[in-house]
Amino acid sequence: MNDLKPILFPGMEPRRPLVIAGPCSAETEKQVLRTARELAAEGVHIYRAGLWKPRTLPGGFEGVGAEGLAWLRRVKRETGMYTATEVATHEHVTAALAGGVDLLWIGARTAANPFAMQEIADTLRGCDIPVLVKNPVSPDLELWIGAVQRIYNAGIRRLGVIHRGFTSIDRSRYRNHPMWAIPIELHRRLPQLPIFCDPSHIGGRRELIAPLAQQAMDLGFDGLIVESHCDPDSAWSDKAQQITPCTLARICRHLVIREMNVTTENLTDLRAEIDKIDDELLDLLARRMRVSREIGQYKKEHDMPVLQTRRYEELLARRAAQAAELGMDRGFMRAVYQAIHEESVRQQMEVLGPASEKEPEI
Ligand code: PEP
Ligand code: MN
Repeated sequence: MNDLKPILFPGMEPRRPLVIAGPCSAETEKQVLRTARELAAEGVHIYRAGLWKPRTLPGGFEGVGAEGLAWLRRVKRETGMYTATEVATHEHVTAALAGGVDLLWIGARTAANPFAMQEIADTLRGCDIPVLVKNPVSPDLELWIGAVQRIYNAGIRRLGVIHRGFTSIDRSRYRNHPMWAIPIELHRRLPQLPIFCDPSHIGGRRELIAPLAQQAMDLGFDGLIVESHCDPDSAWSDKAQQITPCTLARICRHLVIREMNVTTENLTDLRAEIDKIDDELLDLLARRMRVSREIGQYKKEHDMPVLQTRRYEELLARRAAQAAELGMDRGFMRAVYQAIHEESVRQQMEVLGPASEKEPEI
């Protein structure tokens, strides 16, 4: 994807973050226009409003549909903002393109479905419209990349993604868990692809929008898509996470935007130190693996019965507790030891030979 083009419209300066804002749903012409005027007055250039709403349960407000396209045209005419909406089917794309929408995004439920993604991609073939693909609801990076590739293969070059968090059993803090490692890995694999953060759907609560937006900026994200409503408390969908245009502007003013890719001398020194530590880490790991192979050799020669599951469990628990004392996360240390154990097992299996089913010592 080396030939992507920036997501920009005539008259807009490139800047970080690029902000897309507007209500979760277009409800009435009055609400759409009032919110749009307030956002335009705060300097927002791209206006979002969901016309077709994917609802978890049937019977809720499912959007005003194609009727709202005329409202978005009015927004554009009267405020000069560009408009964006969510599409999930061939019919939505056709209607949005004919209705003059400037940018399309694909929702998290749709991005999880390759048939729907292909249908959208086929409809978009030959069009030049910016498209943003939200992450699928499940934390599956390949599925996300696959969804993006389908749109790319249809010829779309103003292409980007939206990180909106992932469904998780741990709902204590976030509506959708950010799992930042996933968008970071996506950026490593596809560095040209602009990434927007959707703090509204990650947080699910107004208070979380500012800290999440700041985290996204600190991680080098390119833009933000934020749900903003002229009267959030009376919104017809997602009211707990919508903020007024005035609050949005205040949040944006307080964002600290750090320059990416600046290397001060101090940082160079610190990075050199990290590289040295990593060299030592690798040496230590290699030493550990050699010992592990020796144990494997010993077991082979002595035809030892091996019962090591308990030792593994003990080791995991002990190292996790030790990590916590040293200011690191227990789960992180368990993951590290699980990975080390896996490689240890592989190394000992090599020594023991293919016929052995003994549990190796780690
Ligand atoms: C939305 O943007 O309003 C929306 C429905 O989002 P998601 O697909 O992330 O749930
Ligand atoms: Mn919403």
